[in-house]
Amino acid sequence: MAGELILIVEDNAKNLKLTRDVLQFYGYHTLEAVTGAAGLALAREHLPHLILLDIQLPDMDGIAVLAQLRAEPRTDALPVVALTALAMRGDRERFREAGFDGYIAKPFSVADFPEQVRLFLNPDVASRST
Ligand code: MN
Repeated sequence: MAGELILIVEDNAKNLKLTRDVLQFYGYHTLEAVTGAAGLALAREHLPHLILLDIQLPDMDGIAVLAQLRAEPRTDALPVVALTALAMRGDRERFREAGFDGYIAKPFSVADFPEQVRLFLNPDVASRST
């Protein structure tokens, strides 16, 4: 089922546009922020169904953004997926320990991305697939 609201926090204009365009093509509604502070404000205001969070942002890193979301009762249960160009061994474990619900490495595959998003929006399916 599409139509869910997804917040994209990404400071790279090209990546932001690609992510938004793919999500909108598949029927999702999107909110966009290019800084951690703006992302936090949109998350608090709209309580999106999913947050795609870049790790390297101009004002604060994604792990700090996540920590703030997890520290506030209104936002602590929102699914948050790290979107990152970092693809080193151990990143997946590091992001999971930080409290992310998952990790999508950039550049993502346009063919696979919608299915990855769908799984994060439907944790029952995601947990069965792991
Ligand atoms: Mn970035």
